[in-house]
Formats: sequence, structure tokens, C-alpha cells
Amino acid sequence: MKLKSTNPAKNYGLVGEVEIATDKDIRAAVKKATKAKNSWAATSPEERVKILRRFKDLVFENRKGLATLITAEMGKPLKEANDEINFDKGYLEYYLSEGPKILKGKTVFEDEQSIGRVVFEPYGVAAVITPWNFPLDSALWGVIPNLVAGNTVILKPSEQTPLIAKKIADLFAQAGLPNGVFNILQGGGEVGAKLVDADIDLVWFTGSTKTGQEIYRKAGKKFIKVLLELGGSSPAIVFEDADIPGAVEEVFSSRFSNCGQVCDATKRLFVQKSVFPEFVEKLKEKVGKIQIGDPLKDNTSMGPLVSRQQLVLLEAQVQDAIKKGAKVVIGGKKPAGLKGAYYLPTLLTNIKKNMRVYSEEVFGPVLPIMPFKDAEEAVKLANDTIYGLSSQVYTKNKKLAEEMATKIKAGTVGINTGNYFKPACPFGGYKKSGLGREHGEFGFYELVQIKHIHVKK
Ligand code: NAD
Repeated sequence: MKLKSTNPAKNYGLVGEVEIATDKDIRAAVKKATKAKNSWAATSPEERVKILRRFKDLVFENRKGLATLITAEMGKPLKEANDEINFDKGYLEYYLSEGPKILKGKTVFEDEQSIGRVVFEPYGVAAVITPWNFPLDSALWGVIPNLVAGNTVILKPSEQTPLIAKKIADLFAQAGLPNGVFNILQGGGEVGAKLVDADIDLVWFTGSTKTGQEIYRKAGKKFIKVLLELGGSSPAIVFEDADIPGAVEEVFSSRFSNCGQVCDATKRLFVQKSVFPEFVEKLKEKVGKIQIGDPLKDNTSMGPLVSRQQLVLLEAQVQDAIKKGAKVVIGGKKPAGLKGAYYLPTLLTNIKKNMRVYSEEVFGPVLPIMPFKDAEEAVKLANDTIYGLSSQVYTKNKKLAEEMATKIKAGTVGINTGNYFKPACPFGGYKKSGLGREHGEFGFYELVQIKHIHVKK
């Protein structure tokens, strides 16, 4: 059976199709990855990296085609698709140059009697299951560190972006990896579920909290390792002493890039009462300048959402807020004259806690804004969520910023910045935003068994 890929910017016209993996395909991929795991584990990280460098070069040689495909399948403007590829350059370089050093093992204890050292060993077969919002980044962030660490990989990409995934698989084939080291299974959640049920050793998952919980339940039963990078409803807190124009810029880009479809985007904004009207006005001015439309056009700064399904969900969340008394500062509806999954960038005030935009993850260009009195109230609001992926604090008061960073329950706290994604810095969630960390040395430690060897002198 075929999986159709459609273009959300062109009234859901067909972009292409791929074969959906059958049960037989799933069994074959697991068999191949299992057969390859011992020989791949026996190679050194340096040897693995040598092969993977060929893959990295191929990604950048094919950047133009990849960017066009990202735009066609998920609707982000071509400039943002190119940014996604550029962004990956730093990450791939980090995994390939730092990975072998991190995985070298080290002495952790020594006295007159004995010496203790740790070595890192791969788990075996890793299932890498990914979403659609950064289709290239999320796939490579899962696949490459696993391969460097010595695991063989079965990638199950999102059903929304199968053609980009197919291109990635083609590039792996060209790079000359040993047979069975990288495998791909296309299809929807049912294929992912069957892969998790199969005889694998590790699940590296990025996606929604709902799916993550289901995978965690199954993995618990089988007692295999999981790494879960899940949803978020990240707060940004702006104090009255902040650099207001600077904070407006950061919050704007955190909420509205990628059409608001970013896991750690600012999804709830809290602004201190005295600067609330000024901040909302300045943000409204910026939002009003967004050019929404055809993502292939140079002057477009926001494309459509990824799918009709996401549009329907977003519309329902905003309508719920309006019904319960939210004020639409700007946006709040679909733009006229555009056919596809388009939604106007939206600011909402008069927010109440019983609104879906406050309690649920909002995966689109909609920002609820609430005033707060003091730091104590800001912390309460920031932590009033099932999520804990990231957060931002804007103030010139360094002591206050550090206090807030201690009190906010989230995997990342950006102080006066939303630009904290760096290859060496760990990323992951508190609460229902995930388990474990990706990137940096901490990300590598998630993918390996840590063996302690203790020798008597
Ligand atoms: P999703 O959970 O619907 O799907 C993610 C992947 O899981 C897809 O490949 C899907 O086919 C697969 N899947 C679905 N059901 C499954 C099952 N029962 N068993 C195994 N696999 C299954 O999420 P999505 O809509 O693709 O992505 C959006 C979500 O991802 C948002 O919540 C967003 O915040 C989150 N996200 C998190 C991060 C992060 O790093 N924390 C990054 C990007 C996106």
C-alpha cells in the first residue's frame, strides 16, 4: 500500500508517494539490523565516523533538493528549510568529531590497590522514530549519534514527510554503510507501534507526549531503554526591567518561526503588569509584518501548517479561547484567499486557565499572553503545566534570573535568549516533556551501556 505525501501550501496536492512497510518488511529490517549489530559494534567509533563523513558530505551536496522537498512536504518557507540544513551542519560536525572522544572511556577511580575505568558499549538495534516539524534534523539527530555509538538503526520517520526520509535513506545507501547498519520503514503510527513491539534494544523517540507514553509503557514491559523527546508548553517570563525590544525579538522568533511548530517554542507568555500593554503592542507590530503565503516565494516569512489535521486542531483551540473570553489582539482566523493549511499568526490576551491554549500544547502560530504581579506568581504560572521542556526569562537582574532558573521545572532555561540550541548543550524535558537528553556528551551517554571494569593492581 502507498503512503501519499501532500503539499499543505498547495491545497494538499500530491507531492509523491512511498510504499508502506508491511509486517514482512518490519521483520526483515529487524533481522538485518540484528545481523549487522555485532560487526558494527566491533568497529571503532573512528572507523564509523569515517563512513559517516561521506554521508555528511552527501547531505550538503544535495542541500538544494532537500530544501525544496522539506518545503513541499511540510510547508516551511524555503529560507527556513535551508536554515534547517545549515543548522544540521554544526550538529553533524559535533557528533562526528566529538563522538569518538566522548566514547573513548576513562579512568574514574584509582588508589594503591586498584583502578576502575568505564568503557561504553552499544545497546544493539535502535528504533529511531521521528516527527515532521524538522524532518531532516530530527531524523539525523536520532540516527547519527546512534550510529557513532555503535548501534544499528531502524528509522521510522513521520508519515507526513516520507519523501525527505526516503532521500535520507538514499544518501545513506550512497555513503556505503555496511549492509543492515541503517534501515528505514515508512508508514504511520501502526508501523511505529509494530517496530516498538519487535525485538529491538533501544527506542529513540521524538514526538508527542501521548505517543511517548505508549512507547514507554511497552518498553517498560520489555525492559528496554528508551529516550523520549516529547511535547512542550514552554513559558517565557518578561520582567519590567528587561530589555523590552530585545525580549520582543526573542519571543517573536521563538513563537513564530516554523509556523509555530517547534517543540520548545514559547507557547505561553507572561509579562509583568507594568510593561504588559507596551510589550503586547510591540509584539503585535512585529506579528503584523509577517508575510504569510507561498513558501517558495522569497518574501514569504510564514507558510502553512503541516496538515489539515493540525489546522483543525489549532482552530478548535483558538475558538475555545474566544468562547471563554479571550481577546484577539491580532489574527485569530484563517487568512482569506489562501488554499491550504494556512492560519494567521495570532496573539491572545484575557487568558484563563480553563482555556485549551493555556493547558494544552499549541502547535501553531498562536500565543496566549498573561500579565503577572511578581516573581512568585511568574514561577507558579510557568510551572503550571504538565510539560517541562524549556523556558525563557527576561530581566537585567542577574540574581533574579538565576533564582528563576532554579525554580522553573524545565530541561532548559534561556536567560535573555531563546537561542540556546547548540550541539554541545543537552536538550530534553522535565515532567511529561520527556526522559533523557539528546546532544552533547550527555546525549551520547543515553545510547550506550556504561561498563565499569575494576582491576586489582
Ligand atoms: P506523533 O507522536 O504523532 O508522531 C511522532 C512519530 O511517532 C511519527 O513517526 C508517528 O508515525 C509515530 N507514531 C505514532 N504513533 C505511534 C505508536 N503508537 N508507536 C510508535 N510510533 C508511533 O508526533 P508528531 O505530531 O509527529 O510531532 C509533533 C509532536 O512532537 C509535538 O508534540 C512536539 O512538541 C513534539 N516534538 C518534540 C521534540 C523534542 O525534542 N522534545 C522535537 C520535535 C517535536
